[in-house]
Amino acid sequence: MVRAAVLPAVNAPLEIAEIQLPDPGPGQVRVKLAAAGVCHSDLSLSNGTLKQPVPAVLGHEGAGTVTAVGDGVTHLAPGDPVVLNWAPSCGDCHFCGLGEVWLCANSAAAAAKPYATRADGSELYPGLGTAVFAEETVVAANAALPLPAGVPLTEAALLGCAVLTGWGAVHHSAQVRAGESVVVFGVGGVGLATLQAARIAGAGPIVAVDVSPAKEELARAAGATDFLVAADDTAKSIRKLTGGIGADVALECVGRADTIRTAWSSTRRGGRTTVVGVGGQDQQVTFSALELFYFGRTLAGCVYGNSDPAKDLPVIAEHVRSGALDLSGLVTERIGLEGIPAAFDAMLAGKGGRALIVF
Ligand SMILES: [Zn+2]
Ligand SMILES: [Zn+2]
Repeated sequence: MVRAAVLPAVNAPLEIAEIQLPDPGPGQVRVKLAAAGVCHSDLSLSNGTLKQPVPAVLGHEGAGTVTAVGDGVTHLAPGDPVVLNWAPSCGDCHFCGLGEVWLCANSAAAAAKPYATRADGSELYPGLGTAVFAEETVVAANAALPLPAGVPLTEAALLGCAVLTGWGAVHHSAQVRAGESVVVFGVGGVGLATLQAARIAGAGPIVAVDVSPAKEELARAAGATDFLVAADDTAKSIRKLTGGIGADVALECVGRADTIRTAWSSTRRGGRTTVVGVGGQDQQVTFSALELFYFGRTLAGCVYGNSDPAKDLPVIAEHVRSGALDLSGLVTERIGLEGIPAAFDAMLAGKGGRALIVF
């Protein structure tokens, strides 16, 4: 039995409970978690904004040590440090064939099947297939990526969602080049990772925007050269900071209609906006046909940073080793499983960066 935070039903309070994990089956591995980050998507899964079969153990940003491997698993062995990947690619589908592995048609398969049981024998589903809000988990072997050397195992959890997403948004989706002006909306865990990635890309100025003035220090430490508290005239203020032209690139890490609209409006003619935040179906953004034509801007979605985690992880690890990427700078709180509800409340109140569960 291992301790886990169980979501009994959509919108129900989390329960800390003992759960029973099976031995890893063929093609699976069992992982003892070192740490797990609390991501905004966990909040969205718990309140039904994103769909997830329940009861479930949520959590999709984790790192730990392999303790057992199932039949046919040859690339991992007990004792190996791993980062969990919540969107493992199958290698066989249309999208994998195109090399767009972040869009893999089969990446959500594990989340749809029960993986463990509660003390009463009832079945549990793994949140996003990874279920890292527990001391241990059992995942498909391709959802466990070998952790490159020199990266601390606890902070490595952040690589699994916030960092791959922020890094990928900058390098793959927006393809930020040195010297370009960048504005990042939303200074949470992903926003901070995005700011650091923009700094590493050599962007400047780098403007951070958040509703909370308390985020300024965090944002500047992550690479922001300017900080704005979100206001009605945010787009105008960004134009002022970018020579009256507008930013080359906007990265929206909130997932709300009004911030997406502001992000787009804050870019220059021909500018690029990437929507990194995961919003709900009720968030409708409108544009006039004339402005779409006149400004010649692009607006792109971004799934998991449009990254291939197996290829990106070694590159990101090199930046961690060199000190350019500061993983601990993303963490604003270290908590236990009991601290998840308070971490959700802090997110709703717009406070903090990443809360990291340390086992
Ligand atoms: Zn996430
Ligand atoms: Zn695929």
